[in-house]
Amino acid sequence: MRTSTLLDEARRAVLGGGRDLSLEELRGLASLPVEDVPSLAALAHEVRLDRCGPEVEVEGILSAKTGGCPEDCHFCSQSSKFETPVRPTGYLDMDQVLAAARETKELGASEFCIVMALRGPDERTIDNVIEATKVIQDETGLNVAASLGILTRDQAERLAAGGVHRYNHNLETSRSFFPEIVSTHTWDERFETCSMVRETGMELCCGALLGMGESTDQRIELLGQLREVGPTEVPLNFLNPRPGTPLGDRSVMEPLDAIRWIALFRLALPEVILRYAGGREVTLGELQAMGMTAGINALIVGNYLTTLGRQPLQDIKMLADLKMPIGALSKVI
Ligand code: SF4
Repeated sequence: MRTSTLLDEARRAVLGGGRDLSLEELRGLASLPVEDVPSLAALAHEVRLDRCGPEVEVEGILSAKTGGCPEDCHFCSQSSKFETPVRPTGYLDMDQVLAAARETKELGASEFCIVMALRGPDERTIDNVIEATKVIQDETGLNVAASLGILTRDQAERLAAGGVHRYNHNLETSRSFFPEIVSTHTWDERFETCSMVRETGMELCCGALLGMGESTDQRIELLGQLREVGPTEVPLNFLNPRPGTPLGDRSVMEPLDAIRWIALFRLALPEVILRYAGGREVTLGELQAMGMTAGINALIVGNYLTTLGRQPLQDIKMLADLKMPIGALSKVI
């Protein structure tokens, strides 16, 4: 089918009738020639403005416990299974967490996420995160999110009751590709934690990592699986090959290919908060602003756990240049 026909049909479906595109239609759009990627991006931007508005949500993340993780996710320099330059740290104390939250607030962010490199939390960690949540909310007014790995139902209920409003747990990749990337836990365990998060009333933040060697069909499969789990937010990561990890020798995705997939994520999931997460600088380079007009409507500023993101003020300037206001999307969705 011709490009213009595919794009017209997609526009009619998503904007005209409010119908979800089928996985087959998404597969068709995924194979458009590279010169048509800007048109695909323009459609995704229209969809984002129509469904989500012009605001961009800005979030700061803090790695409150780095490295030493017993899991073997092949992309991750925080795994204790690989020889990487990341040195494990202990848990940060409350003053350090609060100082990072205050800095985040000063940038105009509405969300602060506490991230720990863990298979899953113990009871003491849950207690500490609940205590930190209360202090951060009282002192800064920020929404607090957490990313602590696989949860039990009781832990998910306690976090929800303790004021954690959003929980991050990524599917990372499709169910069929996952065993090639992780052997210490299953995709189904991840899916189960994601489902539990929603059942306890927290918003689900469930991300993807592209560029690990998955096929186009497996990316489309992942889009279907993300629809099933129903996230409020999808952080989109691109592989930034880390030395010492099994994926350390892979090449990064082509910038226009990354733009294509940003657009496809927006078209597949029109109402989610689609957040630029790790790997965007190394993958997109000069095309970072183009991602903002291809469906992205949220940013993580500053530190990405083990690799430094660019300076937060550069991102804030990019938003100002694009005339995109910083807003708290979770309040309007
Ligand atoms: S991705 Fe998370 S669970 Fe996997 S090794 Fe890294 S810190 Fe551990």
